[in-house]
Amino acid sequence: MDTHERYVDKFYNYLAEGKLMGQKCDDCGAYTLFPVPVCNKCKGTHLSWTQLSGEGKVLFVSVCKYPPVRFAKFAPCGFGSIQLKEGPVFFGIVDGVDLKDPVNNFNRLPIDADIVIRDIAGNHIPTAKVR
Ligand SMILES: [Zn+2]
Repeated sequence: MDTHERYVDKFYNYLAEGKLMGQKCDDCGAYTLFPVPVCNKCKGTHLSWTQLSGEGKVLFVSVCKYPPVRFAKFAPCGFGSIQLKEGPVFFGIVDGVDLKDPVNNFNRLPIDADIVIRDIAGNHIPTAKVR
């Protein structure tokens, strides 16, 4: 069995190739986005890499004006919780929202979005672009 570091490397290598890959549990069918050695839902250990749809919705979004220095050039930006169509929820950058008046965003929640893999400060990470 792979070590956890290998799972994590594989996940980021897929992202660098432009692929949003998660794991599907062969025992219960649950999906995870960030790789784990054991299913979060049933504790099963039979997990298979699978390409995710890249569709989701933004459950909550805030405006980040003062991020850590490393991410300063991306500010201001939307940041929030994003749920994939397959179920997993993660926190990430949200593009296409109102950065001047966040209340306009709250009135639209949940907002349909597409997952876009972006190179942010040297890492390929999943982000959301609202429709
Ligand atoms: Zn499971």
